[in-house]
Amino acid sequence: MVLAELGGKLRESLRKLHSSSGRVTKDQLNALLSDISRALIESDVNVKMVMTMREQIKTKVMTQIEAEESKGDDQDDQNRRSASHLSKTVQKAVVDELTNLLNPENKAYSLKKGKANVVLFVGLQGSGKTTSIAKFANYHQKRGWKTAMVCADTFRAGAFDQLKQNATKLRVPFYGSYTEADPVLIAEDGVNQFKKEKYEVIIVDTSGRHKQESALFEEMQEISAAVKPNNTVLVIDATQGQAVFDQALAFHSAVDVGSVIVTKLDGGAKGGGALSAVAATESPIIFTGTGEHFEDLESFHPESFVSKLLGYGDMRGLAEAFKSVDGDGKDTLMKQLELGKFCLRDMYNQFQKVLSMGSMQKLMGYMPGMPEYLIPKGGDQEATGRLKKFMYMMDSMTNAELDGKVDLSKKDDPKVQSRIRRIAAGSGTHIQEVMMLLQVHRQFEGMVGKSKGLFGKNAQAKQQQ
Ligand code: GDP
Repeated sequence: MVLAELGGKLRESLRKLHSSSGRVTKDQLNALLSDISRALIESDVNVKMVMTMREQIKTKVMTQIEAEESKGDDQDDQNRRSASHLSKTVQKAVVDELTNLLNPENKAYSLKKGKANVVLFVGLQGSGKTTSIAKFANYHQKRGWKTAMVCADTFRAGAFDQLKQNATKLRVPFYGSYTEADPVLIAEDGVNQFKKEKYEVIIVDTSGRHKQESALFEEMQEISAAVKPNNTVLVIDATQGQAVFDQALAFHSAVDVGSVIVTKLDGGAKGGGALSAVAATESPIIFTGTGEHFEDLESFHPESFVSKLLGYGDMRGLAEAFKSVDGDGKDTLMKQLELGKFCLRDMYNQFQKVLSMGSMQKLMGYMPGMPEYLIPKGGDQEATGRLKKFMYMMDSMTNAELDGKVDLSKKDDPKVQSRIRRIAAGSGTHIQEVMMLLQVHRQFEGMVGKSKGLFGKNAQAKQQQ
């Protein structure tokens, strides 16, 4: 998982808030903020940014905490309700401020269907530019865009071969030259050819190194002037942490950077630093690179990213994906999130939708409460098998069990044990596997409960009620 360590620490801090008496005191808030700040700084997020974030959260919730504290210690019903409301307010403030940290002012450019969209890629050598171009081409080609690549890097020996190799594997047309030394001419000719052939996404690779930095930037400007890109994408290596801020600014001052791909988020502990530093340069991050394969490209949305990082799962992403499958505009998962309820039957329905959607492995990763070790590494077939097994077990349950009218959580109760034995026998699975399913459901249910009101459209309004 991306930034697993940072995510783990943030989740642990929020968990402490949950396991406390229900009330949030000033001391608890300060401890939570110290924990979160430490985790972010360890992930190389700029100290000043962390401190600003801390102050913002404090300002948002401190007056409410003081008001609650002045009510005294009586834990009557009303107090308990406002205490849980307060814990939600704190969580919401954390989610919002972490999202702000990653949210630049500017909106990302979106490609226009049926038009020639010229996308110029820039970035230092070694940043992962050539790999990201292949991933970007693969991503768009798979979604039905007519895609082509142009190699305008004549400085690095082997650059054209590398691009050609990737293009051939992906069956994407490419343009380049072994003999022409002028990158501007190649870029111009390549783009013109693909425009004539009605390509929709025309990706131009540029050099990432020169004898002098000024020559590199000059060449980029000349290519940019010649091909007039609709979007210039800067590729940045996350393993350098917040140091990428200066690099990003240097590229900004040379060309009109419209969006950024942050690569190598799968390795190194400085990903949080790199992401927030890029956001601070006001460039929207559109994708992150999470491995060396063509498929290892994830589209980036600050809210979904934070949600996943904090262990809520990417509920919004999942809900949106389901919505596009349903096609009827009914957003059942989102409704469930607003209600904060989730019985086994709801989980069965979600699994059924996931099975109809493809790219199972990734979707399982989105699901809240799905333990990391249950997400198969062996690809979609293995993931499908695992989900189906869970569904066979649920097929062997009674309506009362599916609808949450029977409590299956008491493992030591002989009646529950007998039910579990029956479910295992009925589905041809082991008792341990049924217990695992129930555990996944409990975690799923817990996450849905916890995220009630955190991510919905009306969350803000609900918090203020
Ligand atoms: P370029 O010089 O900027 O074109 O960089 P390359 O695309 O050749 O990438 C440099 C190295 O980084 C290669 O070994 C790539 O496989 C690797 N790389 C690129 N993107 C990622 C990523 O997202 N994750 C990991 N782990 N490696 C990456």
